[in-house]
Amino acid sequence: MKIGFIGLGIMGKPMVRNLLKAGHELVVFDVIKENVDISVKDGARAAASAKAIAQECTTIITMLPNSPHVKTVVLGENGILEGAKPGTILIDMSSIAPLASQEVEKACSAKGVKMIDAPVSGGEPKAIDGTMSIMVGGDKKIFEQVKDDILLKMGGSAVHCGAIGAGNTTKLANQVVVAVNIAAVAEAFTLAKRAGVDPQLVFDAIKGGLAGSTVMNAKGPMMIASNFKPGFKIDLHIKDLGNALDTGHGVGAPLPLTALLMEMMQTIRADGAGQDDHSALAKYYAKVSGTKIGD
Ligand code: NAD
Repeated sequence: MKIGFIGLGIMGKPMVRNLLKAGHELVVFDVIKENVDISVKDGARAAASAKAIAQECTTIITMLPNSPHVKTVVLGENGILEGAKPGTILIDMSSIAPLASQEVEKACSAKGVKMIDAPVSGGEPKAIDGTMSIMVGGDKKIFEQVKDDILLKMGGSAVHCGAIGAGNTTKLANQVVVAVNIAAVAEAFTLAKRAGVDPQLVFDAIKGGLAGSTVMNAKGPMMIASNFKPGFKIDLHIKDLGNALDTGHGVGAPLPLTALLMEMMQTIRADGAGQDDHSALAKYYAKVSGTKIGD
C-alpha cells in the first residue's frame, strides 16, 4: 500500500522504517531536510509538501509535535485538505489535545476525509522495535481497516478507546502516570544517594518488587548514568501536561500531581533542560537537594 507520512522526528523516522519493512511504499515530508534525507536513505520517497502527499496518497499518517502543528499540516496552506481526495484516511499519531483532534476531524469530515487519532506510548526504543502501544479514537470501522496492515506494523498493541479524541485522552492519562512515576524514581534515588546508599544498588534491589516499573527500568539507568539524551524531551512532556491540565479543568477532574509535575518540569526547563530526556527530572532533585544521583 502507498502511505504518506508527515513528521520525521525521533518517532517518525523509525515508524517509517517499520512500514517500509512491512512492504509498504512510503512518501514522506518534513520541514527539516536532514530528517527527510534519512527516511529517503531508508527507502522512502520525498514529497514537496503535505498537499503533494495528499494528492497522491489516500492513506496518510502524521507524527507531529502538538496541536498547532497538526492544524497547520492538515488545515493550513499547502496542507493535507488542499490536496486530499474524498475517502482519504488520515491517521494522526501525534500526541495532541483531544479537543484539537475533534476540531481537525470536523474539518476533515466536511471534505470527506476520514480521520482517527492514534497517539502512541513506548518512546523511541519501542518505535524502533515496532512494539509501541497505540491508543485510538474515532470511527471503529476505520480503526479495523488500518489495524493489522498499518498500526500493528509499528506497534505491539492497538486498542480502540472510543470516539474521536479518545486516543489522545488515553495518551494524556498515560503521560500523567509516566511523569509521576519518573519523579518518584528520581526522588527515591536522590534520597538513597543522600543517605549514603548507591542508587544502582537500590535499583538492583527493588526493580523486581512492587516498586518496579517499565518507567524505572527505562529511566533509572539513565539517571544513574547522568545520560539525559532524548528519548522523550522535557519540552514535549510539558506540552502533554499542559494538555492534560486544560482537559482536566474542562471536564472537572482536578489534577494536583500533574500541576506539581508541570512546575517541576518548568523549573528545569528554565535552567535549559527543555531538550533533555524527561529522565532529567533528576535535575530538579539535584537542584533542591544539592545531590546528583549520577556521578
Ligand atoms: P520530534 O520533535 O522529534 O519530531 C517532530 C517532527 O515534526 C520534526 O521532524 C519536525 O520537523 C516535524 N514538523 C513540525 N512541524 C512540521 C510541519 N509543519 N510540517 C512538516 N513537519 C513538521 O518529536 P517526536 O519525539 O518524534 O514526537 C512526535 C509526537 O509523538 C509528539 O506529539 C510526541 O509527544 C509524541 N511521542 C513522542 C515520544 C518520544 O519518546 N519521542 C513517545 C511517544 C509519543
